[in-house]
Amino acid sequence: MNEQPSALTRLCAVGRAFLDVLWPPLCLACDASVGSPSALCPSCWSAIQFLDAPLCACCGAPFEVPTDEGTVCGTCLAYPPKVAKTRSVMLYNDASKRLVLGLKHGDQLHLVPAMATWMHRAGGPLWDTSDVLVPVPLHRWRLLKRRYNQAALLARALGESTGKPVMVDALTRWRKTESQGHKSRTERARNIAGAFRVTPRRALDLRGKRVLLVDDVLTTGATLEACATALHSAGAASVMALTLARAPRPGT
Ligand SMILES: [Zn+2]
Ligand SMILES: [Zn+2]
Repeated sequence: MNEQPSALTRLCAVGRAFLDVLWPPLCLACDASVGSPSALCPSCWSAIQFLDAPLCACCGAPFEVPTDEGTVCGTCLAYPPKVAKTRSVMLYNDASKRLVLGLKHGDQLHLVPAMATWMHRAGGPLWDTSDVLVPVPLHRWRLLKRRYNQAALLARALGESTGKPVMVDALTRWRKTESQGHKSRTERARNIAGAFRVTPRRALDLRGKRVLLVDDVLTTGATLEACATALHSAGAASVMALTLARAPRPGT
């Protein structure tokens, strides 16, 4: 059936065109103008490395050569992580860093819907095996300073698109940790171990649940492992994770 656009659709299209003249849509990662809102310009699109198979079946690290489905990387074989499966949208490189830092420190909250759409797609293998979304929390002092937790914003948007419940207060970051910036893998793990606790009033709600942790960046995985330790000890059935970006090789 060849339906004519309704008067409202035509009015919206006119409104959109009018707004585009006043405020042309800009690339999410730079100031180049783009054809539609919430898009990346061609040069940012090609600089951002979106992750796709072949990936480690466990931690989601990309393999350089084709592998069979279900192949697990050497690191996961040697040190099986507490987070059973992790997936990320993109590699953390100079191009994606602008997006990540824009959300984390730049108040660029307009990035959330596009990021959540990408994360929804990248999280494909995780949706059927998770019951509840839990964002990695900030320490309350940091939350006061920044006013929002970027991981909670992403988790809420994913909750809306997937229909999964979101438990923003499931975990508490009760110990303020030093910056992880220049620490080695072992130092990071030691720095963050025990930094998270399950919020007591949420412990019962988490028992037997398959939890999907949500965060913006995975660096070594130490933060996600510390969250998984707390969730397992509260009786969560399993813990998986979905992040926007990930370091090229965990531990480097
Ligand atoms: Zn751009
Ligand atoms: Zn792995």
